[in-house]
Amino acid sequence: MGKSYQKQWVGVFGDPVDDNPTVVMEQAAFDHAGLPIEYLTIQVKKGDLKAAMEGMRAMNFTGINITMPHKGEVLRYLDEISDSARTMGAVNTVYWKDGKLAGENTDGKGFLKSLKDGGVPMKGRKAFILGAGGAARAISVELAGAGISFISVANRNEEHGEALVKIINENTAAKAEFIPWKGTISIPEDTDIVVNATPIGFTDENKPDIDYDSLREGMAVCDVIPNKAWTPFLREGEKRGLRTFNGLQMLVNQGAVAYELWTGKEAPVQVMKEAMEKEYGVKLP
Ligand code: NDP
Repeated sequence: MGKSYQKQWVGVFGDPVDDNPTVVMEQAAFDHAGLPIEYLTIQVKKGDLKAAMEGMRAMNFTGINITMPHKGEVLRYLDEISDSARTMGAVNTVYWKDGKLAGENTDGKGFLKSLKDGGVPMKGRKAFILGAGGAARAISVELAGAGISFISVANRNEEHGEALVKIINENTAAKAEFIPWKGTISIPEDTDIVVNATPIGFTDENKPDIDYDSLREGMAVCDVIPNKAWTPFLREGEKRGLRTFNGLQMLVNQGAVAYELWTGKEAPVQVMKEAMEKEYGVKLP
């Protein structure tokens, strides 16, 4: 056999996409495993997704991540969609499954892996989610699938909050309620898992407007902010001696699930984690 110059391609389609850091951890993982795969960060503008998906099929890409604004539209161009991704109405990872182009959503799975790795019990427990967007949707559906029995959704916009409550109540075994988020809200005492699923803290040092003294012993405090090991929200939990779970680890974990779907091999999670720690100059707890 002669030398092969051919590479396999994976990557991400989105717009804007230039600040998407996924390439860092996925490339580190492929290189570590000695796989001839290259991760490409590709700007695909709104209106061009159909052509881009035809292109990735024609060029025989091994898979692709999908990010804003295409996570919903991409469902139309796939042969198969996982039940949970269909419930969420969003796909962030496309891969080949028995010759068919399949869609999965790894965001909530990454979140769940952090909690499971931390030994947080799920069965019959209660979650309180701040926000009702894509991240909140993915997390709620996965939490419900893992046995969480009750989910409170607190959101500014009532319509968005009620829409997520409807998705949970109609498609999962969990029950959900909407909490209008006006002014400072309290976390109910019997809550087990509290999640900030808003972008508050991403580009600033703000924290969600809740009564932090309502965070009580036994609660797990979780953030989705993907570029930080610590946020002011998580610090409030830490200050009270509570267990915290950050969005950077969630990002690494969801990337590990995508890696496994693309390669069929176990992801080198530690390598991916170290690549992101180096990229952001942080140490993950
Ligand atoms: P969306 O735009 O879909 O939803 C944002 C949600 O946050 C909405 O419910 C919105 O409320 C609420 N919100 C925004 N600003 C405020 C505010 N100032 N006060 C109160 N509520 C607010 O975004 P996504 O769900 O896609 O993303 C949310 C965050 O999750 C982002 O920071 C994203 O980077 C992160 N993320 C992290 C991942 C990871 O792996 N770590 C994976 C996916 C996302 P309203 O409906 O009232 O507008």
